[in-house]
Amino acid sequence: MSDPSLDTSKPVPVKKRKRINVRKPDVMEKVQAEVSNHYKSSVVEKLRELGGEVTLGNTTIKLAQQFGFCYGVERAIDLAYASRKVFESNPIYLIGEIIHNPEVNRQLKEMDIVSLPWEEMNEQYDELDENDVVIVPAFGAPTSFIEKIEKQGASLVDTTCGDVMKVWRRVRTYAKEGYTSIIHGKAVHEETLATASHALGKEKNGHYLIILTLDDTDFVCDYILGKISDEDFMKRFGESNISPGFDPAIHLKQIGVANQTTMLKSETEEIQKRMVAVITQRDGDSTNCQVFDTICGATQERQDALFEMLKDPMDMLLVVGGYNSSNTTHLVEIGQKELPTFFIRDSDCIESLEQIVHFDLEQKTEITSEYTNLLDQEKIVVVGITAGASCPNNLIENTIIRVCELRNITKEEILATKV
Ligand code: SF4
Repeated sequence: MSDPSLDTSKPVPVKKRKRINVRKPDVMEKVQAEVSNHYKSSVVEKLRELGGEVTLGNTTIKLAQQFGFCYGVERAIDLAYASRKVFESNPIYLIGEIIHNPEVNRQLKEMDIVSLPWEEMNEQYDELDENDVVIVPAFGAPTSFIEKIEKQGASLVDTTCGDVMKVWRRVRTYAKEGYTSIIHGKAVHEETLATASHALGKEKNGHYLIILTLDDTDFVCDYILGKISDEDFMKRFGESNISPGFDPAIHLKQIGVANQTTMLKSETEEIQKRMVAVITQRDGDSTNCQVFDTICGATQERQDALFEMLKDPMDMLLVVGGYNSSNTTHLVEIGQKELPTFFIRDSDCIESLEQIVHFDLEQKTEITSEYTNLLDQEKIVVVGITAGASCPNNLIENTIIRVCELRNITKEEILATKV
């Protein structure tokens, strides 16, 4: 960043776009070795080799068929590591977090990659200059952030996942065709903020409404059917959920549904169904409602694999991942409908066989639960484990080892198990 004592009163000239490709073969070779060293797991590999299940004595550990790092996350981490190798001595910044996992973000911090605020731009963005490198995370960033960084002349390493960009293309098309994007997502999630900025379209005259729940959906449907006043509508969806100048009386005539890539698939499908139904009821057909499923393949695969695993009885489910990870949260929601489910950030959360520290989705905080099902060493116990798309294998390994060690099973015994 530039010296703040320099005179900044003069207008900053718009500088040339600098998007950098850091994927050079020699760099990537070193990156792969480092990433593998940080996040690999021999125990997870062993479980995979055993078909996702190991039974030792009275304890069975089951791993979902799909879990952990997705292709988008792997790519984002690779590019962040590569940035440090290519720009050895330049200041490197990151918009928010590269992905939602504290362990991965800690590693980047150790490489001197500094996190900038992602909710809004502060003076740190004014101080960026040509010497600086800014990494865009896997969720992407709002167009205003990208424009600002380019204007400052800093180099951009864009790790936005291709599946997120697919959603952006869709909402830009909605804007071009005069449709308002109804975005199923969290208004305070990085990806949804970025998608909302793209829903304004190239001309920045498009519109969006962000909804999160089926309750929100029904409220919008009731408004469309004239059961709710403009005032009540605006009261419910504050400024953060609607585009500037949004008028429900005008901007819900033609709508297009899209979603944050990591939402619960069944909920997104239900929202699409209800939106199509209400527009058909109002207009006689569904021409004024477009729907497009933008759940990403990795999210879908992890949800499907968990549904599959839940077909067999288990005593408990451990879901490993960052507490702010959307796709991990949905795995927890799926699990807790069926059996005792604990959302843990790492193996340290399993304090003992009786006590597990875990994130409670209702209370939105970590709590400690008493759990005695694991206590009886004579009892046959089946523990299911899965992890969100941003969770590295080493954290999954530590969780497996922790459960096993509390049941008097060593890592060596797991590794020595034959297929
Ligand atoms: S969860 Fe999906 S959208 Fe997000 S980074 Fe992974 S593949 Fe991309």
